Amino acid sequence: MNESYWIASSKHNELKSLDKDINVDTLIVGGGIVGITTAYLLAKQGIKVTLIDANKIGYGSSGRNTGKVTSQHGIIYSKISQKYGDYKAKLYYGGNEEAINLIEDIINENNIKCNFKRVDAYILAQNENYLEELKEEYDTCKKLGIDCEYYETLDLPIDSKGAIKFKNQGEFNPKKYLDSLLKKCIELGVKVYENTAGVNFRKGDICTIKTNQEKVICAKNVVIASHVPWYDGKNFYFAKEKGDRSYLIAAKLEKDIMPGIFLGVEDKGITLRTCEEDGRKLLIFGGGDHKVGQCKNEGEIYDKLKEYAKEKFNVKDFKYQWSAQDYMSYDNVPYIGNINKKEKNVYVATGFSKWGMTGGTLSAMIISKLIIKKESKYEDLFNPSRKGSYLTTDFYKENLNMTLNYISGKLKYGSDHFPIQEGTSEIVVLEDNKRYGAYRHFDGTLYIVDITCPHLGCELTFNSAEKTWDCPCHASRYDYKGNILEGPTVKPLKRYGEGKNHIKINL
Ligand SMILES: Cc1cc2nc3c(=O)[nH]c(=O)nc-3n(C[C@H](O)[C@H](O)[C@H](O)COP(=O)(O)OP(=O)(O)OC[C@H]3O[C@@H](n4cnc5c(N)ncnc54)[C@H](O)[C@@H]3O)c2cc1C
Repeated sequence: MNESYWIASSKHNELKSLDKDINVDTLIVGGGIVGITTAYLLAKQGIKVTLIDANKIGYGSSGRNTGKVTSQHGIIYSKISQKYGDYKAKLYYGGNEEAINLIEDIINENNIKCNFKRVDAYILAQNENYLEELKEEYDTCKKLGIDCEYYETLDLPIDSKGAIKFKNQGEFNPKKYLDSLLKKCIELGVKVYENTAGVNFRKGDICTIKTNQEKVICAKNVVIASHVPWYDGKNFYFAKEKGDRSYLIAAKLEKDIMPGIFLGVEDKGITLRTCEEDGRKLLIFGGGDHKVGQCKNEGEIYDKLKEYAKEKFNVKDFKYQWSAQDYMSYDNVPYIGNINKKEKNVYVATGFSKWGMTGGTLSAMIISKLIIKKESKYEDLFNPSRKGSYLTTDFYKENLNMTLNYISGKLKYGSDHFPIQEGTSEIVVLEDNKRYGAYRHFDGTLYIVDITCPHLGCELTFNSAEKTWDCPCHASRYDYKGNILEGPTVKPLKRYGEGKNHIKINL
């Protein structure tokens, strides 16, 4: 699998997994930016915190993104303002600005070396068809009092037919930031366990969580910080947000470009920034967005990104390539707060629409306030049970798409031969008349797994760029051996000979 520049250039200190039953005050499930920052804020207030992660801390999306730290999240302020009014749009901006300031404060207080820098952020239209929307966004931003400017063009080697600048935003190395913050959490007394997945949840005044190693954790408060919630309190997050994957490359930059962080506003728009570390300058460039499990040619995406970067930025030395996914809410506002209306001691943060560095930090601020003070000024805006958050045309389109993928997956015919070429896959039908996913690894080994997703039973598709089995319905992902890479699933795939996957309706 491809690895992100941030992860590849950091050193991981492995932590042990949980090997006994425990009682805790606050349990955080998931060690990305949400989990680690929440642990930090609570521990600083003297709360006893335990954090578990299914894999390695910081290896989820938080270690694989673009490292932009900004309240400029594409064309959103006009949309939020239209749906929820100016007050809430302004509150969204204020919350994200507070998050940038908190990140900067944490870095300064703890002397964290993560190349944090204040820079201006730009959204730009490469295609004239988006200019009207861009100008409307600018007018809304001005009306809300956001410190921004409009440009007819930018001094970049790519097309820009119009752009909006937000001043004084930020960029950093997200993995270096999280590694240092985790260290600080441990110094503050947070107990952290890796390779420890929550797989079963029983609600109550004291919640009971069972781990993948059959250990039991009893907790007064639980924060579900697993990106997409693996326990969702029947609030149907897997339907209220959709999983989107995007691809990034890092190349040695020969010639400087104008300072800033940049995002194209088009569907499948580009993203770019530079990064200067260890005496070298890299261009980080990305795009190729698609719904998880629904791309026929992932393998070509990296090639296309590299071609474009070569042509526009004259780069040739490509050092890293990686991809990541995030969950997109339908109203551009994440879900942060109580997991549902009833379970007042269970919290969730998800649906960051690719802006979880600020959104995840803001989640930690809100959830830690809710745990300690039982209130937050942001509670209503981000309330996971808010009315109508998902009732949009896109929601109906996506859920129809989900159903069609479920059905078409079942109708797909399997082949009668295994893949021959290394690095390729085939869906095959074996003697038991069941379809399996077969993958031929580069060392010639054949891996055969049951590809009916244990989450809700959709048929998985093969991601040829990452060599993974991805769910086109709810965005769970597995490696070619069947191990879980991303949720909402909590069960790995069975290998041929181990029987069928148990389809757990995890509602
Ligand atoms: C290509 C791309 C670029 C992006 N760029 C930016 C950017 O520049 N700026 C920005 O603000 N945002 C960006 N984002 C979004 C951002 O990366 C995410 O929103 C953010 O990282 C989400 O953080 P998280 O803590 O919720 O999830 P994660 O970082 O994914 O952490 C979740 C953790 O939970 C663990 N977990 C999952 N299930 C379980 C379980 N059952 N039990 C225990 N642990 C579990 C996982 O192992 C993982 O470590 C980008 C996203 C993508 C896809």
